[in-house]
Amino acid sequence: MKRTLYLKLLLGYVIFGILSFLTIATFTAYMALLHIEEDTISSMYRESNLLAGSYASNYYQGTMTLEDITSHLQSVATYLDADIWLVSTDGSILINTSPNAVAKNTIEGFDISDFGTKYYQKGTFFDTFSEKTLSVFSPVTIKYKVRGYLMVHKPISDLIDLKNGFLDISYMTLAIIFLCAFVMLGLFTFTVYLPIRKITNAAKDYSEGNFDTKINIRSNDEIGYLAGSFNYMATELSTLEEDQRKFIANVSHDFRSPLTSIKGYIEAIMDGTIPHEMQDKYLNIILFETERLNKLTQSMLELNKYGTKGSIMDITSFDINHTIKMVVQSFEGTCKQKKISFELILTGEESFVSADISKIQQVLYNLIDNAIKFSHPGSSITIETTEKNDKVFISVKDAGIGIPKDSIKKIWERFYKTDLSRGKDKKGTGLGLAIVKEIISAHNENINVISTEGVGTEFIFTLPLTRQEADL
Ligand code: ATP
Ligand code: MG
Repeated sequence: MKRTLYLKLLLGYVIFGILSFLTIATFTAYMALLHIEEDTISSMYRESNLLAGSYASNYYQGTMTLEDITSHLQSVATYLDADIWLVSTDGSILINTSPNAVAKNTIEGFDISDFGTKYYQKGTFFDTFSEKTLSVFSPVTIKYKVRGYLMVHKPISDLIDLKNGFLDISYMTLAIIFLCAFVMLGLFTFTVYLPIRKITNAAKDYSEGNFDTKINIRSNDEIGYLAGSFNYMATELSTLEEDQRKFIANVSHDFRSPLTSIKGYIEAIMDGTIPHEMQDKYLNIILFETERLNKLTQSMLELNKYGTKGSIMDITSFDINHTIKMVVQSFEGTCKQKKISFELILTGEESFVSADISKIQQVLYNLIDNAIKFSHPGSSITIETTEKNDKVFISVKDAGIGIPKDSIKKIWERFYKTDLSRGKDKKGTGLGLAIVKEIISAHNENINVISTEGVGTEFIFTLPLTRQEADL
């Protein structure tokens, strides 16, 4: 494609040149000659009429001699660059301003009716001229009687010379236009064709999975913008590819370790390495690992739903305070075990938000689950809601192990777990916060974390308040 575009352009340029040249050589040449002829005939006719009405009439009326008139007509002929004749009705030439051109004194076979209705003729004029000539005549009329004819002759070659002069100018103009077009072609090559070729080459690299190619175009126009978009796309695609690789590595790792231990224990039970009375303990471990795998699969399915942007949000208006209380209740059993207490600081009685209730329940569940997991026994977890402008800020705060500074950014990544947490929670998959992030983003809201290692962690997210209830 890249080569033909330029070839097409070059071909177009050459065809344009040839066609322009042919047009001038045929159409313009024909039209120019036609125009010059018409123009010359009408000016010659004007002159012959003028001369017939003045000098020629004077001669027939006897007020001027033939010599006088001849010298006058000669100067007019020089001025017009033409031959002027005064011819009597029988064809004898009384005056000829350039006698050398024609040897005869009489026009043989002269018959004015040969002119027909026209006042001019193209040809050799009754064989008096050797070359093609344009002849115009005006009758000299005295007292309603035609006494003679005043004729103006001009060789057609003069007109052709004029036409050729004009054509030369046209060819020169064409050459200048052609040169301008060539400059335009060069400009097009540098500003459009070469950049497009760069982009096409890069696109080819991208299609082969090589996203390292960068398009180096800095122009501030549509092409520059296109190149910028391509570069951006390549960066995005390469990180996407990197993410996918990381994701698959993580998934494989997380599936392999529980599967290996399940396989090991089952084999040990089957071949009797584990004695009968110890089997219960190891079957419990197998159950634990199976549950973990189950949770992992479920979380991944959940994440997949958001990742494809296809998850349909079921937005309703509900009381977030009530939802928080319900979720907290479901943790009662676990909290009792760990002697963890909850402190709820909720805004007023009710606080209606517009969101997908089941997904927000999951967000709360994941955040509270983390808070409990990473809290020290006997500590307290604070859940607070605050209304600000048209948002509700929901905070889940614990006084647990905290998150190291350099891990803060990574906790949203799939499968990420801090080193601190690994010992505390073996069952965790590292997918909980990734799901939380996806859900909050799907609501076009934000979630932030503030944490100090060894002191505690606070997650804060926003939800839009439902205003209608309050306004009505
Ligand atoms: P899962 O949620 O699937 O059970 P998880 O809790 O390990 O697994 P996330 O909820 O995504 O995974 O959390 C990721 C990591 O962030 C945790 O492993 C932990 O290291 C850290 N983290 C999250 N919440 C807290 C918290 N409240 N206090 C301290 N560390 C936390
Ligand atoms: Mg979690």
